[in-house]
Amino acid sequence: MGSEAVRIAEARVERRLLRYHSPIVTAHGTIGDRWTVLLTLVDEDGNIGVGEAAPLAGFTPETVEAAESALRRWAADQTDGGDHPASVTAGAAIDSALLDLAARIAGTTVHRLLAPESPDRLAVSALVTGTTVEAIAASAAAAVTAGHGTVKAKVGTHGIDGDVDRISEVRSRIGPDVRLRLDANGAWGVGEALRHLDRLAAFDIQFVEEPVAGLDDLAEVRLSSAVPIAVDESAATIDDIRRAVDSGAGDLMVLKPSAIGGPSEAARAAAIVRSAGLDVVVTSLLEGSVGIRAAAHLASAIGALDPAPGLATATLLAVDVATPFLPVNGELLLG
Ligand SMILES: [Mg+2]
Repeated sequence: MGSEAVRIAEARVERRLLRYHSPIVTAHGTIGDRWTVLLTLVDEDGNIGVGEAAPLAGFTPETVEAAESALRRWAADQTDGGDHPASVTAGAAIDSALLDLAARIAGTTVHRLLAPESPDRLAVSALVTGTTVEAIAASAAAAVTAGHGTVKAKVGTHGIDGDVDRISEVRSRIGPDVRLRLDANGAWGVGEALRHLDRLAAFDIQFVEEPVAGLDDLAEVRLSSAVPIAVDESAATIDDIRRAVDSGAGDLMVLKPSAIGGPSEAARAAAIVRSAGLDVVVTSLLEGSVGIRAAAHLASAIGALDPAPGLATATLLAVDVATPFLPVNGELLLG
């Protein structure tokens, strides 16, 4: 939505620290302390809307410095009607903040503003963390005890035997009824991925994200894979997502509102994916709770409830940008 819908009296831009309880290990590298940028909009009646820009190497094209300067330019332009900046993550912050502000003005929530009948709670998948087999298995067991019906584990960082050890132990600890999804973040080559997925399929895997990097290789793996394939960072834009659908690169698509330009752009992407008969999974970009909340409202508004959104990641944060948006009994409450 455009800024013309509301009259903005003040736009504040602040860089904020995110700190995880423990660093998050992916095949792209280890994610430790990180900066994001908060955008706070205030209208002439004192209503407030917030958004978060959360660049992350490997997932978004820009640095936090670029996102911050794009937001500062946009904020300065609000007095004379400037346009959106050429920054995907800044665009996400602006879109989210404008939606938040519009919902406050309307006296409702973002998900109800977008879709009046949408649910006010979401069952979400938990990301398990840890570096040892025992730590990962304990993290998965704790997520199930906390009420999650879906857990996700990163693979591709410990060799196939290490992955099989980890995923075998996770499956035995969570039991047969909890859904288990994997994310290789593009770690493998095509032949390697097919061999690994043959072995990992024994653990009843819901889907694997990015077993290989790039849409062509994903399409090749999907033809013979023992596990359904989800496209994530190989499709970073709407055009990529259209190509991913057309090329048969995935059985489903992961959508990160913070990485694609905001909830409105994610909704457009979801419509493209669903028109091809495929599912979408809305996930966080491991950002702070402002961005997670925006993603959760979008997931509710577009009815992306199953497969469960990957939005339990505020539990991973020791230092957040706002009141932590934590699941309760495995669900986010969108009130
Ligand atoms: Mg992923």
